[in-house]
Amino acid sequence: MTQTTELGERAAAPSGPGLAVTVRGLQVRYGEFEAVRGIDLDVHRGEIFALLGTNGAGKTTTLEVLEGFGTRTGGSVSVLGLDPAVDRARLRHRIGVQLQEGGFIEELTVRETLELWQRLVERPDRPERLLERFELRPRQDVAVGKLSGGEKRRLDLALAVWGSPELVVLDEPTTGLDPESRRRTWDAIQELQEAGRTVLLTTHYLEEAEALADRVAIMHEGRIAVSGTLTEIVAAQPASFSATVPAGSGELPALAGRADVEGFRLRVRTADLQADLTTFLNWAAERGVQLPDLRAAPASLAEVYHAVRNEQEGSR
Ligand code: ATP
Repeated sequence: MTQTTELGERAAAPSGPGLAVTVRGLQVRYGEFEAVRGIDLDVHRGEIFALLGTNGAGKTTTLEVLEGFGTRTGGSVSVLGLDPAVDRARLRHRIGVQLQEGGFIEELTVRETLELWQRLVERPDRPERLLERFELRPRQDVAVGKLSGGEKRRLDLALAVWGSPELVVLDEPTTGLDPESRRRTWDAIQELQEAGRTVLLTTHYLEEAEALADRVAIMHEGRIAVSGTLTEIVAAQPASFSATVPAGSGELPALAGRADVEGFRLRVRTADLQADLTTFLNWAAERGVQLPDLRAAPASLAEVYHAVRNEQEGSR
């Protein structure tokens, strides 16, 4: 079916029982500017999915469409089997949302904010549980306007996970948090998954995606450059091994990958780690060369991220 800008005529993206979110060809324009340029995305039920990307890549814009706050100009979207552009009111009861900027009433205290939430949200939960879980009890009588940035972020997260919704959408949940609060936030996110919930989050912290996410997508300039499990996306980048090769070991063997030598330190980046490492180890064994500091590793998420940036900059 052709996608149109008329809400009523839009096709919902195909969705199956295993999918919490399905996006096909999503486009969002702000006037002449195309912030999201035809992306596809599947988030499976029960997984933690991290959307990474450069500043201005279109992550928040994408989340806003999924939450029903943003308007798409093309493509189809299904969230828990509903089209957020049409069914926002029904969806609101089934998803928890943490925006990049919380929209708090500054005069209310932390406890009053949670009590207000209790009246507004259909999912049952208790302010006590959230005060405890997010260590806000000592701050319960403080006006929201007087909280620190990190405390506000925790309150915002508490509201998003209120009643343990089927799907929780978090926009940079740990930005501005100290390391201990960040770790506790990770625990809270993992608890949601253990309870069978689905979490879709954005982050600029690659280690956060590595620690939490089952699958990731990296966005750049409105497009998804790569997506998959961490293992899948790092497998697409060259792995590397390194070792100190003592003087007098002789000429290095021919390898498929690129070898760089700095002093006595050899570093090889290769698309075929197993073959090149075997060649290198056989070479060392034949010469009786000891390699006490030999290290081999797949590419890191950081390397994939930088490769995405460089590739796209280079293709201009
Ligand atoms: P960041 O990591 O910096 O938060 P992001 O990936 O979340 O970035 P978005 O906030 O989705 O990016 O913005 C995508 C692009 O759309 C940016 O260039 C931004 O300036 C632009 N944009 C966002 N909202 C609007 C708006 N309301 N009107 C016009 N342009 C907008």
